[in-house]
Amino acid sequence: MAKRDYYEILGIAKNASDDEIKKAYRKLAIKYHPDKNPDDKQAEEKFKEAAEAYEVLSNPEKRQRYDQFGHAGVGGAAGGGFGGGGMNMDDIFSQFGDIFGGAFGGSFGGGSRGGRRVSRGTNLRVKVKLSLQDIANGVEKKIKVNKHVACKTCHGSGAKNGQYETCRTCNGSGVITRVQQTILGAMQTQTTCGTCHGEGRIVKDKCNTCHGDGIVREEEVISINIPAGVSEGMQLSMSGKGNAAPRGGINGDLLIVIEEEEHPHLKREGNHVIYQLHISFPDAALGTTVEVPTIDAKAKIKIEPGTQSGKVLRLKGKGLPDVNSYGRGDQLIEVSIFTPTHLTSDEKKTLEQFKASKNFEPNPNKKEKGFFDRMKEYFD
Ligand SMILES: [Zn+2]
Ligand SMILES: [Zn+2]
Repeated sequence: MAKRDYYEILGIAKNASDDEIKKAYRKLAIKYHPDKNPDDKQAEEKFKEAAEAYEVLSNPEKRQRYDQFGHAGVGGAAGGGFGGGGMNMDDIFSQFGDIFGGAFGGSFGGGSRGGRRVSRGTNLRVKVKLSLQDIANGVEKKIKVNKHVACKTCHGSGAKNGQYETCRTCNGSGVITRVQQTILGAMQTQTTCGTCHGEGRIVKDKCNTCHGDGIVREEEVISINIPAGVSEGMQLSMSGKGNAAPRGGINGDLLIVIEEEEHPHLKREGNHVIYQLHISFPDAALGTTVEVPTIDAKAKIKIEPGTQSGKVLRLKGKGLPDVNSYGRGDQLIEVSIFTPTHLTSDEKKTLEQFKASKNFEPNPNKKEKGFFDRMKEYFD
């Protein structure tokens, strides 16, 4: 896209005075300021365009180069600071101090977006232990957190009467600029102002409750909605529920780390749950109906006559929901046949009789495949 003429952008004559340039830019900056035109891309472009034009025309050296060579004279390396992409918002706002003075900077939020640092509260991390039932259905947990909250006495300002004064060390910029002479020439370094910690302002009369910090420690009960299907180690985040920032900055986030409680009978495997069922040999041979625990309640399942040890039965949809989709896992029931360890002499005698029968000889064709083979089949 071809760049528009800088004089045209600002709507001024080629021989405009410095004062006229400033005035023209101020008008446009107010008209197209992002605070006045939220989410308006076109206004933002106009705002940036005007800033770029002002950046060049307000500098006598750049203006001369521009007059002589046009955009080529001030673009790229020779332009000193901005190439084809124009200026970024931070650059623009940092320029505002010169144009509007103190009076406008604050009301436009320009000051805080420029050099000054907006303080941010730290993130808080809490662990929440969940049962399988919580995970299956989703749950609302109320947890107590000890955190920084805005001081109620001063409404978080840190000041007795809510008033600040400009930091004298950095003149409100929040940074200290030092110029050092090195063998490569003058080097400019910027550090955060130690007096105001980069805020550019200091509290005039400190609040007695928070001693000027604007924050106090307090216990707060936060209710957290945990979606169904979460898993161990997963981290949820609640924006702005972390520590409050000193003197009215931005709150940190609350990070919730999920921990799974072990279930006494069920083992989780992805979205499936596995249960190991022990049945007696007669039940396996004759068939029966048994009750098994599931996440929510008990379920009755039928054991067919002649069930082999290692068989996996499936309760469809009795697993866990997927946190990212609509799917739901199953409950897998692995059947194990319990071998008795104490027998009376009568029982021994009876079993000896069974041994003689051909029906009791293991038949490899009826054998269930190994557990992992079956699981692999299942999960593939
Ligand atoms: Zn300062
Ligand atoms: Zn206070």
